[in-house]
Amino acid sequence: MSKNIKEQISCLVKLQGIETDRFNINIRLDKVQGNLEDLDIKLKAFEQEVENETDIIDEIKIQYRRSESDTQENLLRVQKSRVRLGSVKNNKEYQALIKEIEELDNKNSQIEDKMLEYLDYIDETEKQIGFKKKALIAFSKEVEEEKNNVIQKSEEDKRRLVELNREREETLKEIDSPLVDKYNMVRETVGRITIVRVKDSVCLGCNMNMPAQKYNELQRCDSLQFCPHCHRIIYWKNHNERSE
Ligand SMILES: [Zn+2]
Repeated sequence: MSKNIKEQISCLVKLQGIETDRFNINIRLDKVQGNLEDLDIKLKAFEQEVENETDIIDEIKIQYRRSESDTQENLLRVQKSRVRLGSVKNNKEYQALIKEIEELDNKNSQIEDKMLEYLDYIDETEKQIGFKKKALIAFSKEVEEEKNNVIQKSEEDKRRLVELNREREETLKEIDSPLVDKYNMVRETVGRITIVRVKDSVCLGCNMNMPAQKYNELQRCDSLQFCPHCHRIIYWKNHNERSE
């Protein structure tokens, strides 16, 4: 009725495979939330970058308009001074007005140079922002796709996990409970690689050689054996059998 030791050891190997898969899936699932958040953070950073540049442009536009009204104000003052030129009473007053007009003209030409620089900057930066906005749309699509991808994969993982849990329960039923207890005990000491194959007299858990006597016992496949070096459960497979 109950399976022989060789068959049960096969079940233990299967059990270990199931548990490894479960472990890896759980690691992936643990990362899902963080991965989704990372994608949102990247998108936010890009949006912020575009927003900051737009703010700078707005600020430069304000400065441009301020300069524009400054030049108009100066022009008005120049016009007034020119009118006053017609009614000056002496040379000193005349010279003072001429000097004032010159200074205002100079100021305006400086401001106008600056305004040209502003315009160039606005032009260039608006072009860049245009490119970035396009890139942002593409990137946000990419992020959306990637997020869907992450969610879809995690759903697959969750379904697989349910399957693995069922397979685990079924496999456990195939193994005598003292053997399961032993397996769990060894697992607690040596970690997730609990049961390993011995190939050509070498333990694949620790790569150490088996003593000849031990290897002979192992090949009989009629008892539970442990590696004398790493203390994992060991098993042997005939070369004709499919390897793990
Ligand atoms: Zn070993």
